[in-house]
Amino acid sequence: MNKRIFLSPPHLNSSVQEFLTNVFESNYVAPVGFAIDGFESDIAQKVKCHSVAALNSGTSAIHLALVLLNVGSQDSVLVQTNTHIGGVNPIVYQGASPVFVDSEKDTWNMCPIFLEEAIKDQIKKKKKPKAIILVHIYGMPAKMFEIIEVASKYEIPIIEDAAESLGSKYRNQHTGTFGIMGVYSFNGNKIITTGGGGALVSNNQELIERAIFLSTHSRGEGPHYQHTSLGFNYRLSNVLAGIGRGQMEVLDERVSSLRTNFKKYVGFFEKWNAKGFNIQFQIEQEDMFSNRWLTTILVDPKTNYGLQREDLRLALEKENIESRPLWKPMHLQPVFEKNKFYGARVAEELFEIGLCLPSGSNLGDEEFQRIFMAINKVMNFALE
Ligand SMILES: *Cc1c(COP(=O)(O)O)cnc(C)c1O
Repeated sequence: MNKRIFLSPPHLNSSVQEFLTNVFESNYVAPVGFAIDGFESDIAQKVKCHSVAALNSGTSAIHLALVLLNVGSQDSVLVQTNTHIGGVNPIVYQGASPVFVDSEKDTWNMCPIFLEEAIKDQIKKKKKPKAIILVHIYGMPAKMFEIIEVASKYEIPIIEDAAESLGSKYRNQHTGTFGIMGVYSFNGNKIITTGGGGALVSNNQELIERAIFLSTHSRGEGPHYQHTSLGFNYRLSNVLAGIGRGQMEVLDERVSSLRTNFKKYVGFFEKWNAKGFNIQFQIEQEDMFSNRWLTTILVDPKTNYGLQREDLRLALEKENIESRPLWKPMHLQPVFEKNKFYGARVAEELFEIGLCLPSGSNLGDEEFQRIFMAINKVMNFALE
């Protein structure tokens, strides 16, 4: 059997090892130390924001953002339905209710029109949403200008879930730095990894200081352990911060490899589209720069000789190549069955016909040949 090609595997670089050696030699392997400080300032410099808290996951970063905004059991939080559940569960951890908003067709992110509809209706029900969690899905920036306009009109703070979009920009500003707080993830499948980790960023230093306090069991001053508020064990380990420092050095390189992957896929499918297929991509709109974390395609059987997304996925799987349907919308997940949803069928249709293709920054020519060969077979079959 051929070696498996994964959707988005880790891609380590040699300086990771140097940072790790330093960490081990110092014996600072707990969630405290110089690598954490260094990693936080690397991130702050890169995305140009004031303060950063390095945490043990993107999910815990979202959770702390909600705690910092005092989201509690009577509250509702608006979040786009087309996302990963890690950005939604923390709302429930706080006892609050996620209210889901559909996507628009251009970026596949939160639709500003449905957003306003949701806000108006929730206000009418005397449940003004406490926050908006905005996602830049697969690395594609959301329509920031329109979203911020709606959010400011109703004075609702935005938490940016930039877990998938580190390195992406809107009007030359990094995603994650528009909202009152932003979140990155360094999980194993993300553009760079610490093997598991996350960060909360903000231009408000007080919020970030508070986040770090909360992430270390809210331990106060004094020789004993003094706790005046509820805390969490969410700080990043110094070992993992060492990996992160090494990975930050190659972030730009990774973005450029992922963008090259995207171009290769576009070139490949354009040849098929010239033969009457209509494979579609997630398109950068004006002022948007995507890190192209995952290359994703839409395969509508109605305009592709009956070819289905699943035909492609299964053909790839047969060659030991991983691909995956787009995120299943949260409002269709059994766990959120009872939650309110505002929108139409945009995210649902994306889920029905969308596929994430292998998108690792370490994909070589040989891997691309295998992927293209597997796809060629099904495309030819559909043409016959
Ligand atoms: C990965 C991801 C998360 C969760 O991050 P973890 O570090 O895995 O906890 C949250 N939101 C989105 C959009 C993600 O892709």
